[in-house]
This record gives sequence, structure tokens and C-alpha cells, in this order.
Amino acid sequence: MISKDTKREKALEIAKECEACGHCCKHASGILIEDEKKALARHFRLSEEEFESKYLEDTERFNTKIKRFRQIRSKQRPHGQCIMLAPTGKCTIHKVKPLYCRITNCNDAGEQLTVWFALNYFININDAESIRQWAQYLKSHSTIPGGELDSLVPHKQKLDMMLSHDMLH
Ligand code: SF4
Ligand code: SF4
Repeated sequence: MISKDTKREKALEIAKECEACGHCCKHASGILIEDEKKALARHFRLSEEEFESKYLEDTERFNTKIKRFRQIRSKQRPHGQCIMLAPTGKCTIHKVKPLYCRITNCNDAGEQLTVWFALNYFININDAESIRQWAQYLKSHSTIPGGELDSLVPHKQKLDMMLSHDMLH
């Protein structure tokens, strides 16, 4: 069973390789976690700064600022295809693609692994706004063990304060 505390190696094992058809990469792009930025910059023989400015853009999930691959958008569309997607429809960095792309794919456990990723890399238990946004998300989505609000913030009074906007940070 996948829980918030499932190890990264186990998550990768559960996800298995996707078939790399490129379909999901046409309107989204992969998110990078800190150590992957360094590794991918090395892969492209660029400094971290060069790699960031050429290939990455800012985004935010659950009030946490993160980097994802730049999206090539047509006109004013909010989403576009990942800059790493080749005209052939294949990922150009398939062998070194980030954890996010490896696990949050259309495998059987994809949905649960997407929640696992959010819990481990987006949700900030010390940030009331992050917890509030997660509470909002849970109104229409299910979570995995360890992702319940009272598991994330076991102190009931603190959780209530966070959810009631009494705690701004
Ligand atoms: S890095 Fe590759 S797998 Fe990930 S979204 Fe971009 S094209 Fe798709
Ligand atoms: S996750 Fe699925 S849709 Fe996306 S590239 Fe892999 S096989 Fe295609």
C-alpha cells in the first residue's frame, strides 16, 4: 500500500516504466525537485543558472514555489507541451527524466503516486496556507494514509487555527 512515508525507491518500483507515448506531455510538463535540477544541468553540460533560464519556469502547488520544465504554449493557452518533448512525440530525456514524470504517469498507481508526490514535495505542514489548500483539495479528492489533515497536523488546536485563517503563516 502506498502511504505518505513510502520510500522514493519503492514509489519508483510501484510506478514502473511508462510506454513513453508522449500523450500526457503535450499539455503538461515535469516538475523538478532540487537535486534533479543539478543532475539535469550536468546532463546538458550547463551551469544550474543556464539550465534554469533555458529550460525551466516557475509554478506553484499548495503554496509551494517549484520549478517545472518550460511549456511551449500556443496563443494565450494556459498550458502547452513540455519543452523536452521532441517533434516525434517522444521525451528527449526519457532515461534521465525527473521522478515526477516517472511516477505520476498513467500506471495503475498513478493517482496515488501523484498524491504521494504532493505530500512529500508540495505540502508544507508549517505553512497554514499550504494546509488550507490541501484541505480544499481533499473536499473533492481522496488521499493516502498519512495525508489526512489530522495526520499532517496532529495538534488539533493548531490545525483548527490553520484552517480558520487565524494563522497567516
Ligand atoms: S520531461 Fe519528458 S516525460 Fe516529463 S513531461 Fe517532459 S517530455 Fe514528458
Ligand atoms: S504516462 Fe502514459 S500518457 Fe504519459 S507518456 Fe507515459 S504512457 Fe504516454
